[in-house]
Amino acid sequence: MQIHLIKSDGAAKCGINVYTDWQTGERRISSRRFILTTNDPDKVTCKKCSGNAYKSEPVPIAENYLGQIFYTSWGYDMTLHDYAKVIKQDGAVLTLQECFMHSENDNGFGAGRSWPGEINPAGKVFRIRQVKTKNGYVHFTKANGHFWYLWNGKKNYYNTWD
Ligand SMILES: [Zn+2]
Repeated sequence: MQIHLIKSDGAAKCGINVYTDWQTGERRISSRRFILTTNDPDKVTCKKCSGNAYKSEPVPIAENYLGQIFYTSWGYDMTLHDYAKVIKQDGAVLTLQECFMHSENDNGFGAGRSWPGEINPAGKVFRIRQVKTKNGYVHFTKANGHFWYLWNGKKNYYNTWD
């Protein structure tokens, strides 16, 4: 069971959502079935609250990725992609801007494919960092934790069905 350390302002030290049960007045985390908070530092098991969480270590970027395209996959029971082009490279950080996306055969029969178009002038600009994870794997990640992969120039499997 994860127990979260509560700061004097009532928030969990790790930032997880804490609310007060209106019936019992107990402080709980988002999952309503459990009371998982404490003010006693000796009882803390939450790795983030106790400062024991692994922090991804930034890794300097050796290759030149300027102008290259990265993509990410998302979607519950679907395979969707976002594509973005590198517009700036700096240390362990790449700045990207969203591209238009093309797709074909997205009819639910498994032949759907997608590929990137040009930069969308109205597309979001965001940054990804190259980091090393706990198990030594080096990859690119956005602040929200989503992985981004270098696009290899081939059409990606794409499916908005299911
Ligand atoms: Zn915590």
